[in-house]
Amino acid sequence: MNPFAYVRVTAVDEAIKAYANTPNSRFIGGGTNLLDLMKMGVETPSQLIDITRLPLTEITATANGVRIGALVSNTDAANHQLIRTRYPLLSQAILSGASQQLRNMATMGGNLLQRTRCSYFYDPTYAECNKRNPGSGCAARLGINRTHAILGASQHCIATHPSDMCVALAALETSVQVSGPRGNRTLPFHDFHRLPGATPEIDNNLHPGELIIALDLPASTAAKNSHYLKVRDRNSYAFALVSAAALVDLESDGTVRLVKLAWGGIAHKPWRANLAETLLTGHQLERSRIERAAEQELKNAHVTVQNAFKIKLAQRTMVRALMTAARKDTLG
Ligand code: SF4
Repeated sequence: MNPFAYVRVTAVDEAIKAYANTPNSRFIGGGTNLLDLMKMGVETPSQLIDITRLPLTEITATANGVRIGALVSNTDAANHQLIRTRYPLLSQAILSGASQQLRNMATMGGNLLQRTRCSYFYDPTYAECNKRNPGSGCAARLGINRTHAILGASQHCIATHPSDMCVALAALETSVQVSGPRGNRTLPFHDFHRLPGATPEIDNNLHPGELIIALDLPASTAAKNSHYLKVRDRNSYAFALVSAAALVDLESDGTVRLVKLAWGGIAHKPWRANLAETLLTGHQLERSRIERAAEQELKNAHVTVQNAFKIKLAQRTMVRALMTAARKDTLG
């Protein structure tokens, strides 16, 4: 591992100043992904800024919903009464990821920043990886790509985003509060992560030195009628082949008043299914209609020989997640 300096801070402005003084720094909270990357030589920061003492560990009800501090652990968020009762799919998504030990360490802010699990990215003995080494190529395109993206990929990178939690946050239309050298700002969740384009080395739209402070979950009539469904190769400690988050609010006659849908495991960022939502709103929620809506959302998918199965799997996962969410609505 490369040598690095270590500094512990106790205030947000202190953290931002420490970064400004040493731009090749990384903030470290739980460190559950960063330390692996450092051991592999993929990340080589010259300084770690320990933010675990910052006062960002509260979950609070606000006038517009619920605010989750960036340093709340994944475990505490998943088990918190406000989250379990108002946003059950977020609890489900968090608990479907990683392991209990990792969830105890991992933070809510850090979960947004975890990097792809493309195996070529983690192994510097492979020369070709545009995300690790811009301009070097993409070994996955002609290599092992069974778990890779089918939507929104580019010739430069076909990696997927690994988080379960972020799929639920995308469907919930979360806002990300950040603080940095140029002050505070709010990023809508759909603007937080990026598609790879020609710069797959850049995962998100944070500016250098910006720190995630909190996640704001808006109040939602549909959030209690929600479901997160994850499909994977084994039943624990595995990343999603495909996952789906669904929230729905039905009229008394079964017509869709409001629906929010997102997929995980199929793109470089959580994939919000806006087209499918439009096609379903105002109509009776029938299996065949959901299948057609998902099919339309997937019409621009690009697959490889190894991951073509994801198209049907994504469609079926969406159908099941949404039908399960709708049953919760009709059961009240
Ligand atoms: Fe690297 Fe992306 Fe290609 Fe994987 S898919 S090898 S992360 S460029």
